[in-house]
Amino acid sequence: MDNTTFQRDHLGVRTPMRCPVCGGALVETMVRDIGGVTHDLTWQLHAGRCPEHGWFQTEVISKPPREIFAVNKPFGTARRMVVDGREYFSFTTAWNELSPAEQRQRVDPFDPKWWRTAPLPAAR
Ligand SMILES: [Zn+2]
Repeated sequence: MDNTTFQRDHLGVRTPMRCPVCGGALVETMVRDIGGVTHDLTWQLHAGRCPEHGWFQTEVISKPPREIFAVNKPFGTARRMVVDGREYFSFTTAWNELSPAEQRQRVDPFDPKWWRTAPLPAAR
């Protein structure tokens, strides 16, 4: 028996991720399931494209994501974004703002409230 991980891509799916720059809905969304040998672990990559700001992705490992990354293509490499003269590689989520004790609570990793990113200074 080999040890290859189970991997499957789902296209056009719903994701709690939104564009961290404008807050808009993403198109061409994809979710990649990366299931290990244990099925109690939720492990997914989410990717989607903002028509104005390009591709973003994030990773869910049983907990909501801490950061949303700008990428050059779905499941690709990180890219640098410049928004009003400031550089961004990633955008921290509401989940990341919680204390370590709060992060030990059991939550729905797909609850959109944890996926919200802080407004960019340029957007204020
Ligand atoms: Zn956008």
